[in-house]
Amino acid sequence: MARIVMKFGGTSMAGTERIRRVAGIVRRQQEAGHEVAVVVSAMSGETDRLVNFCREANALYDPAEYDVVVASGEQVTSGLLALTLQSIGAKARSWLGWQLPIRTDDAHAKARIESIDTDEILASMARGEIAVIPGFQGLTADNRITTLGRGGSDTSAVAVAAALKADRCDIYTDVDGVYTTDPRIVAKARKLKNVTYEEMLELASVGSKVLQTRSVSLAMKEKVRVQVLSSFIDENAPAADTLPGTMIVSDEELEGLDMERQLITGIAADKNDAKVILTAVPDRPGAVSSIFGPLAEANINVDMIIQNVGRADTDTDVTFTVPAADLDRTVAVLEENSATIGFQKLSTDPKVAKISVVGVGMRSHAGVAAMMFKALADRGINIQAISTSEIKVSVLIDSDETELAVRLLHTAYGLDG
Ligand code: ADP
Ligand code: ASP
Ligand code: MG
Repeated sequence: MARIVMKFGGTSMAGTERIRRVAGIVRRQQEAGHEVAVVVSAMSGETDRLVNFCREANALYDPAEYDVVVASGEQVTSGLLALTLQSIGAKARSWLGWQLPIRTDDAHAKARIESIDTDEILASMARGEIAVIPGFQGLTADNRITTLGRGGSDTSAVAVAAALKADRCDIYTDVDGVYTTDPRIVAKARKLKNVTYEEMLELASVGSKVLQTRSVSLAMKEKVRVQVLSSFIDENAPAADTLPGTMIVSDEELEGLDMERQLITGIAADKNDAKVILTAVPDRPGAVSSIFGPLAEANINVDMIIQNVGRADTDTDVTFTVPAADLDRTVAVLEENSATIGFQKLSTDPKVAKISVVGVGMRSHAGVAAMMFKALADRGINIQAISTSEIKVSVLIDSDETELAVRLLHTAYGLDG
């Protein structure tokens, strides 16, 4: 007997019929002799709808009240799944974030889980009952509802699995695993049998939304075994123990598993950044700090940064990227500080995309970046900025060329299926 946490995403929970399919999958897993706890997302589109209501009510909304509103999507689906499980003869009940509770810090709208009280879930399991837990929600020390940031149900599931010392955390979604790139963009994308925690962390952080970045770092830290698989499976499919999806594994495990690995594991694209260019910034110590200090204070995350070689020893240009959602605030902060920074011109470009190639093979092979630059150059795609890590190379390009760039890199690195 194993203990398994099963998480179902928004598309899997969208409507009565799909919830019935999910109930069947959960029931079969329990009937295979396992202890199961379930974590659910809101129905797809629901969180966006609720976020819009908040914006309409008050453009400068209070994040604590935003959390009260957006956490409700998961309350609905957890109750509906418990009802559906009961309708097919399973014992089930919902446990809302505040009822367990799942404690978080008070960073509303992007809270971090601090602890999970598992007493009720363990007692529930001991009674042969299926505990259904809404993802995304938590509770602060002074009992206010929080949410964990968009895509946060993945993190709820991994945190519940860690707290329960579960044997596995199965993340059921609308694709049957992690692919070499988004299978909705590149039809030739291939499903990966295994991907390492580090690779998944890089892929998630550069735009593969199949798992929330935080869920992967938590799984890595707590050594939770995570599997990504599809909830759109046959009514009579067996329980997931035969591991049909993608397993997230450690570096050591991978070595024994996958001898025929390509140099590059995956490619991701992210259109959610915007570019900022400061022209003629004084070329002297402290200039860069006068730009990025105030941005850090305003809690704006800067990603890629380029400082050009100084012009005639007096000034230089600085280019960087920020989340597009923070672009207006970035401009405001820079203008407020224009006297101290001393730039001549501020321009912005929201029409950019970051394309990243990721793979642990990069550690032992040279030429990965060069291959990327050549493939893009051959098709006339201009690179506006570059950044690298030990297992990743990212470039910034015109967002109109996103799909083309991902497709041609997928081919160039030999990933086409
Ligand atoms: P859920 O609602 O189940 O949480 P998400 O929409 O958050 O699902 O994540 C699943 C989606 O992630 C897929 O539909 C797919 O379009 C996208 N995706 C992006 N990159 C990848 C990838 N490398 N492999 C698989 N799916 C990916
Ligand atoms: N419902 C939330 C969202 O759409 C959390 C999740 O689905 O993971 O972001
Ligand atoms: Mg998701």
